[in-house]
Amino acid sequence: TDIFESPDFYEIDDLLTDEHKLIRQSVRDFVKKEISPIIEDACQRAVFPEHLVKKMGEMGIFGPTIPQEYGAGGLDYISYGLMMQEIERGDSGMRSTASVQGSLVMFPIYAFGSEDQRHKYLPKLASGDFLGCFGLTEPDFGSNPSGMKTNLKDMGDHFLLNGSKMWISNAPKADIAVVWAKNEQGRVKGVIAERGMEGFSTPEIHGKWSLRASCTGELVFDNVKIPKENILPNIDGLKGPLKCLDNARYGIAWGALGAAMDCYDSARRYALERIQFDKPIASFQLIQKKLAEMLTEITKAQLVCWRLGMLKNAGKASSAQISLAKRNNVEIALNIAREARQIHGGMGITGEYPIMRHMMNLESVVTYEGTQDIHLLILGKEITGIQAFV
Ligand code: FAD
Repeated sequence: TDIFESPDFYEIDDLLTDEHKLIRQSVRDFVKKEISPIIEDACQRAVFPEHLVKKMGEMGIFGPTIPQEYGAGGLDYISYGLMMQEIERGDSGMRSTASVQGSLVMFPIYAFGSEDQRHKYLPKLASGDFLGCFGLTEPDFGSNPSGMKTNLKDMGDHFLLNGSKMWISNAPKADIAVVWAKNEQGRVKGVIAERGMEGFSTPEIHGKWSLRASCTGELVFDNVKIPKENILPNIDGLKGPLKCLDNARYGIAWGALGAAMDCYDSARRYALERIQFDKPIASFQLIQKKLAEMLTEITKAQLVCWRLGMLKNAGKASSAQISLAKRNNVEIALNIAREARQIHGGMGITGEYPIMRHMMNLESVVTYEGTQDIHLLILGKEITGIQAFV
């Protein structure tokens, strides 16, 4: 009885290949079988469902656009987007795990790593044998990562890594961390830190009201010896982490759409079933207005995602285009979650329905990977040529 109906008001499915639809269906089935039944409890108890990492790996959800020779999927960006949409329909925290692993850990190792690093890490990350995390944000440097204090000192046969990273998804459970740090010349470099290295710890951040099924932590480096072969050789400067973020933000644009669809679907069905004043509440104009606006925004966001995916496939998507999609889609998803919460009345605040969980999750999604306002200012710079955020 609980069949998810993906709104497709503009027949956007016509723009997808049979392979895309097959991939979407298989991830949708996976979410229904493995994520939806356990996620409410995991969030209520704030437990990361660690067993799903291996299962997501088996489903090919990690780094699906990375070539098959590294154990990954070799798929296009529409496939990747559809996967993120379906996972986040389940839960934004699970999608965060997938985004970090694929776009923020596997992508930089593939794009900036040596052939040895690619072969050493990518197959294990793709399969979920390894969990990775991405350390850019610091306690004093969030929106402005260029100010980072974490630093690398060249000791001849190795580097010494010192500093700390904050708000790092997957950190407490991660086997490896892609860490961005400044060298002695002040240039941002990427290094791979491995769990077990002396002086490296990953304390967990507790008490979140959002992304409760995702584990978040700090990365603390106290004179950690990083072997020279662990530096990412083919990147220099802040554009390294920013390129990773472009990829992850692209996935988030699709993911937020998935959360929005789930809220819409739940609200539509609840409105048809819930009787007040002897009628289904769906018969009241104010409820219809909410539903009509949800469908309108979902349809627009679907078209943005599809077109952006085609631009990504052609290697043409700009950072500003990605900012527009991430900002718009997370904002509409959050608004849809809030309106859906109202349609569910008191029931909307309980774990009987996914609404409140999506809503609270989206409060992180709207802040991480560039806040709403920072993406707005990126667009402002694109339009005017004037950078307003420094
Ligand atoms: P701040 O940068 O302090 O911003 C505070 C407010 O000021 C915001 O509203 C912001 O828009 C505004 N502001 C800042 N500068 C300007 C300006 N110039 N003009 C106008 N307004 C401005 N980071 C990682 O590196 N890896 C991760 O895996 C990761 N996972 C995360 C998971 C969660 C659950 C959360 C909450 C965060 C995560 N982050 C991660 C960090 C995230 O990217 C940062 O929180 C985000 O970049 C914002 O930084 P901040 O929290 O320090 O806020």
